Amino acid sequence: MNRYRAFTALHTLTLAVCAAVLLVTSLTPSKARSTLSGPAAPGVADGEHPDSGKPPAQEARVEENRQTADHAADKTVAWQVRPGDALSRIFRAHQAPLEDLQQILLADTEYLSLETLRPGTRLDLTFDGEDRFTALTLHLDPARKVVYTRQQDGSFVHQAIEADTYWVTEVLRGTINGSFYASALRAGLSRAQILLIDQLLGHGLNFRKDLRAGDQFSVILGHEMTGEHSTGNTRIDAISLVRSSRTHNAFRFDDGNYYNEHGESVTPAFLRWPTQKPYRVSSHFNLNRLHPITGRRAPHNGVDFATPVGTPILSTGDGIVRRVGNHPYAGKYIDIDHGGTYTTRYLHLHKILVRRGVQVQRGQRIALSGNTGRSTGPHLHFEFHINGRPVDPLTAEIPTAAAIPQAASARFAAQLRERLAVMKYAGSRSDLLTAESPPLFN
Ligand SMILES: [Zn+2]
Repeated sequence: MNRYRAFTALHTLTLAVCAAVLLVTSLTPSKARSTLSGPAAPGVADGEHPDSGKPPAQEARVEENRQTADHAADKTVAWQVRPGDALSRIFRAHQAPLEDLQQILLADTEYLSLETLRPGTRLDLTFDGEDRFTALTLHLDPARKVVYTRQQDGSFVHQAIEADTYWVTEVLRGTINGSFYASALRAGLSRAQILLIDQLLGHGLNFRKDLRAGDQFSVILGHEMTGEHSTGNTRIDAISLVRSSRTHNAFRFDDGNYYNEHGESVTPAFLRWPTQKPYRVSSHFNLNRLHPITGRRAPHNGVDFATPVGTPILSTGDGIVRRVGNHPYAGKYIDIDHGGTYTTRYLHLHKILVRRGVQVQRGQRIALSGNTGRSTGPHLHFEFHINGRPVDPLTAEIPTAAAIPQAASARFAAQLRERLAVMKYAGSRSDLLTAESPPLFN
């Protein structure tokens, strides 16, 4: 229930922002990107989103031919999810078999895309010429959809489709009056964005003690667009907080990490393991795994640790609990948003110790491991996503206190000059500027 309410509020906010953004979209030379796929899209509007453009290797191949061959007779019914709608009810109402829904949920286990279902979400149900249900399409945002397509053997495959997107930016400005939190909310920042700022500037600044009424801040906020529509995804490109004694800055660079004006990383660090001590790996990250239970090829988007039931599970970084749920196959699970670029996911839990929306710290106990959902035995399935795409948690480059690489320093310096000038001189909110440029890394 809360989740629905929260979304309605966010949507209203997002719509308001979109309206503003739309006015000036024409200013924006787009850096289009064409990729497909990726796991679940962000469950909240503050989520970060893929901009690394790496195509995932794992997408099962949909039988494209059948799509074209019997296409003429296909019939598609569009459905807009209403409050209280459950997938099973939607399927029954359209005479789509519940066994197919089970197969779709199974195909969704490694993505949990359907867990983002909320009022207003559009679903398309496709039937063939003999009225047999063949595909479900989930529209995640104006740029992203997921199609679950029936295969010969009755199983379904998950295919993510992503349209070209680009970013437009705006400047938000505020003056400290009361707490930073209250002042930043007034300036138009969201709770998740404020938390990120707190993490980015928290090294050299005590938000409770050091700020005075009248201190000022500027933020360059990016909005992801596709065509003329906002996708609802946002990101902080730069923040500058000016006190009487000194200025605190953080800039998002092409690698998705944040640095101060000296090029030193201010991205909060992560733990490699979600447990106090390392456990045996019972199944590795593998984009083309033969599933132990279904016998089908499907990606394994995380790593499995052989944790006995009841093992304390730790958040590997500071963040906000984005989702908590219970999936028929993934079991009890938690998604944590670590300020945009990074997210982590924990599956098959026995007991969840945090609620949706709360703030957690690196190393904080968030759950006890278990064996819930479809599982071959007690274990923790742990995922680490960078820009919305799962990577191997054991080998991924997790943020460390590194500096901008030498080779990128000139480019960083150029961006820094531009953004400092934008934050200092550009008008606020109504003036949109583009700050998009080709990525240096990847
Ligand atoms: Zn697993």
